[in-house]
Amino acid sequence: MATRIYECIKAIGDSIIANKDFLTELDREIGDADHGINMARGFTEVEEKVPQDVEDIGAVLKKVGMILIAKVGGASGPLYGTAYMKAGKVLAGKTELTPEDGKAVFDEVIAGIKLRGKAEKGEKTMLDAIIPASEAYAADVDAGKDLKTALDDMCKAAEEGVAFTKTIRATKGRASYLGDRSIGHQDPGATSSLLTMQAIRDYLEK
Ligand code: ADP
Ligand code: MG
Repeated sequence: MATRIYECIKAIGDSIIANKDFLTELDREIGDADHGINMARGFTEVEEKVPQDVEDIGAVLKKVGMILIAKVGGASGPLYGTAYMKAGKVLAGKTELTPEDGKAVFDEVIAGIKLRGKAEKGEKTMLDAIIPASEAYAADVDAGKDLKTALDDMCKAAEEGVAFTKTIRATKGRASYLGDRSIGHQDPGATSSLLTMQAIRDYLEK
């Protein structure tokens, strides 16, 4: 039987693969029409190559990161790859997680993406979904709210973050070549990050 971490990764992959065309269309408007193709290629390989019976959550996430770096390409491959590798480092050796672990994962993932992409919040990237989601999640955990509420608020903040990317100009990545013409379009990478967080929430709330 597959481990919970494998099942969760598969839930993320299935959502990314199901939304391949949607993500690619978003990237057609402000990029080069490959984000869904890139991500679906990466997660198809992840679902095939990540071992289903390894209990060490950190080891599994590290493997996911390595595959994404090798297979996704573009700007998003190294960024998502870094994110999963960083999450793997935080969770090395763990077979169960607490809500606090989620906070630590968010902190490392965000630091890793910022360092690699040299981006901050407000530049119309995946960080505009991930940073508000992390803040909402951490605030709920710190306030002693239950995990379901924290995960729901995380996704709500990520959705608002994606909506916010429509209103701003891209200053990082390919979309930045469009300058003001990038305004009005939602960022593909922020959207795949939203899908990732929704898949995690849906999996954990199942
Ligand atoms: P490429 O732009 O190389 O074609 P993708 O289309 O797969 O790569 O991914 C584009 C997404 O990557 C963007 O929508 C954005 O969210 C994200 N991105 C691009 N550059 C950066 C960066 N410097 N920091 C964070 N995210 C970035
Ligand atoms: Mg692209």
